[in-house]
Amino acid sequence: MNMNFKMPTTLITGLGCVGRSSANLAALGSACLIVTGASSAKRSGALADMETALKKENIRYELYDKTEQNPTVLTCLEAGEKARAAGADFIVGIGGGSPLDAAKAAAVFAANPGMSERELFSGEWKNSPLPVAAVGTTAGTGSEVTQVSVLTTSDGLKKSIRDDRLFPALSLGDPAYTATMPVSFTLSTAADAMAHCVESYFNRLANDISRTFAVRGVSLLADTFKKILKGGADSLGFDEREALYNASIYGGLAISVTGTAFPHAVGYFLSERHNVPHGTACAVFLPLFIRHNIKCEPEQAKEFFLKTGISGDELISLVEAVTPKCDVSVTEKDLRELAPRWTDNASIKKSFGVFSPEFTTDAIRQLFKKD
Ligand code: NAP
Ligand code: FE
Repeated sequence: MNMNFKMPTTLITGLGCVGRSSANLAALGSACLIVTGASSAKRSGALADMETALKKENIRYELYDKTEQNPTVLTCLEAGEKARAAGADFIVGIGGGSPLDAAKAAAVFAANPGMSERELFSGEWKNSPLPVAAVGTTAGTGSEVTQVSVLTTSDGLKKSIRDDRLFPALSLGDPAYTATMPVSFTLSTAADAMAHCVESYFNRLANDISRTFAVRGVSLLADTFKKILKGGADSLGFDEREALYNASIYGGLAISVTGTAFPHAVGYFLSERHNVPHGTACAVFLPLFIRHNIKCEPEQAKEFFLKTGISGDELISLVEAVTPKCDVSVTEKDLRELAPRWTDNASIKKSFGVFSPEFTTDAIRQLFKKD
């Protein structure tokens, strides 16, 4: 099994890491645009810490705080134009996966005036994107260490750009910023990290390095889920937040090699059409995915459970326990409209065994059809 791996991001984590990294920021330039969502960058304290670090190095900055969840291409274009007008040398993304992914695409737009949506997704960029510094405030997506930006197209569909030029130059991960997340959202973002690790492990593109990351991520997540499910909100201190944050980074490193698989491919429609948060949208398909792999890849599954120290049943119960209820109803008409997506889907094809379009439609029907 090969060990091919590329991860050019400088990753610095730990309590107070933004304040200690002003020199790393200064190395990216003397002016930047900060891309955030509406409020979490401020509420978490990450924006204030970043402003202090930038001021220390006399780095000029402007703020773009209009990133929505599942960011649109138009938002990224607007942020990119603002960055160019401000003479930014680099972009700082602060937030969950949405602002971080928007920061990556804004960096492409900033360097490529007049670029169309088609060119953005095709990778036909005349100029390299501006460097990006990423500061996570959720513990789920791992976007801090991936070359991926997931955006919503002008057709309302979630679509990824995967390009090595999108790896952040710098990622600063202070788990304290995740403390403002309520328990249920903490668990649903952590379920995204669990999905990354499991989908990356059971993946045709997995290699020895990605699997090592995936196993470490699953172990950290499973241990922490058990603590939180037993002790509730009171058991969610800095150490548990740090474990979840680190696990999200392991998940990001794993999918930077493999990409995701069946649960992510199928889950996107729940966010597009029903506003289901990303972590929940993917995690609802995870128990089925784990059962499928136990059945069709018994040897690999046995090794996975041996390495992670949990059984298949235990993992499925944990995932079910931490995944918030997903109150969505899907009609037969919806299923017919969605069906063409399940043919020739690159992420589904990376999954082991056969996930036929009929199997996929039936899986959605069983989970969400209400008569
Ligand atoms: P998110 O969409 O970034 O944020 C969801 C909500 O959580 C927002 O309302 C946000 O508020 C709030 N929030 C963020 N941090 C918070 C904090 N510390 N305390 C309280 N509230 C907080 O959530 P996400 O799950 O991290 O990201 C999901 C996105 O990432 C999806 O678009 C998904 O497709 C993408 N994704 C990307 C990758 C990748 O490799 N690039 C991998 C997986 C998923 P504000 O709006 O105020 O910020
Ligand atoms: Fe994800």
